[in-house]
Amino acid sequence: MGQLHIVFLPVMAHGHTIPTLDMAKLFTSRGLKTTIIATPAFAGPITKAQESGHAINLSILKFPPKGSSLPDNVVSLDQMSTPDLIPKFVEALSLLREPVEKLLQELNPNCLVSDMFLPWTADSAAKFGIPRLVFHGTNCFAQCVAEQMHIHKPYKNVSSDAEPFSVPNLPHELTFTRSQVPEFELFEDEENEFSKLRKQMRESDKKSYGVIFNSFTELESDYADHYKNVLGRKAWHIGPLLLRNNENEEKPESRGRESAIDEHECLSWLDSKKPNSVVYACFGSIATFTPAQLHETAVGLEGSGQDFIWVVRNGKHDDEEWLPEGFEERVKGRGLIIRGWAPQVAILGHPAVGAFVTHCGWNSTLEGICAGLPMVTWPVFAEQFYNEKLVVEVLRVGVSVGNKKWMRVGSEGVSREAVAEAVRRVMVGEEAEEMRNRVEGYKEMARRAVGEGGSSYKGLNDLIQELSVYVPPSKKQDTV
Ligand code: UDP
Repeated sequence: MGQLHIVFLPVMAHGHTIPTLDMAKLFTSRGLKTTIIATPAFAGPITKAQESGHAINLSILKFPPKGSSLPDNVVSLDQMSTPDLIPKFVEALSLLREPVEKLLQELNPNCLVSDMFLPWTADSAAKFGIPRLVFHGTNCFAQCVAEQMHIHKPYKNVSSDAEPFSVPNLPHELTFTRSQVPEFELFEDEENEFSKLRKQMRESDKKSYGVIFNSFTELESDYADHYKNVLGRKAWHIGPLLLRNNENEEKPESRGRESAIDEHECLSWLDSKKPNSVVYACFGSIATFTPAQLHETAVGLEGSGQDFIWVVRNGKHDDEEWLPEGFEERVKGRGLIIRGWAPQVAILGHPAVGAFVTHCGWNSTLEGICAGLPMVTWPVFAEQFYNEKLVVEVLRVGVSVGNKKWMRVGSEGVSREAVAEAVRRVMVGEEAEEMRNRVEGYKEMARRAVGEGGSSYKGLNDLIQELSVYVPPSKKQDTV
């Protein structure tokens, strides 16, 4: 067989498009032809990668698609701020089927790696006789927890939102409260567009060829086994994708979007600080807080006594609604607020940064691990409460801030005292040192995993090998 051609189709969210571009770079570096199908709003970083020499092809897909009832300016999942937009977004995703199939017809790839939010792609791939691999953007641990949660529904056996329960049949005893369970799990039986989509996603996962994880087996080996042996799924761990195999080739440029702050200015601010003396707090590209929660966070960070960089997403609330009076003057020189997009990976990699306050989005969590940083876990929505358990209880490289409630938008409920206390615990003292040592160990394992002969390196070899001899089920029957 000639050169394999892999087509990637991510959903419109930075947490999915960033690792997809990393994945395409990785596959390209192994000699495969790659094409990313991207919407105009997410094409910029791909064009930039092309300009810096990556032989990745780009096919543009209009979004919102023809016939969609989404307003034209809604182009990304992080714009789902009001409930009425969700069914329209779901509908728009399904309307992509026709234009995507047209592109697949033209591109004629050997494999489609597509997002979990695009369940119809399993049928599209079958139509063209190629395997579809699912990309969830998360890790295997969270998938196992979500599956067992869905199968056993242990949250139905408790009498209040606050009563703890554990999830059966998992390698570790993991305890949650009902208020931390994702809404899409609790209300999957309701008849609405999103719950219909969730059902389609489950069915689609089952009929797909397998799953790609942006993770490495050493990080979650019990769960890699569980996924395969208990849940009977096929998966390849090929990450951390951000490290790739040729990490020295590039410096960690701003990923996803242009930074709201000059990267050099930010890094030279950090240059003036002692090693491990600054805590970095950022909550990803989608999570939102109420003004009251932003206010508590500010007071908590100030009260922790630690130097900090805090990323506050732009455009949600005016400063007057949440910024404590005189805050920036008081913390001048020891606290920096970035309003908008931060060069996160560059910041995390700076020696002055000693810990990471994260919402436990999987990309951020993995970036924290790869930087060898203990974490304050502050999950907000999606599968983030599951990821918190991996960090705090399984890997024991973080401390929970104690958020109790899954909230799709407008999260609140974490006190200033909890913020200050959790930040101090990951920055100073023996416990912090122990966590730092442990996470340094995982950082080294991650580097070995992607290096030649490492587990993720081999994982990708195995996958490429399988793809090169793939025979569609229809052809298999023909030959019997
Ligand atoms: N990110 C960034 N700067 C920011 C916010 C986020 O570079 O100011 C990147 C971050 O490094 C990560 C991604 O955006 O790669 C966010 O993905 P994650 O899975 O952590 O969270 P999500 O945004 O999906 O909730």
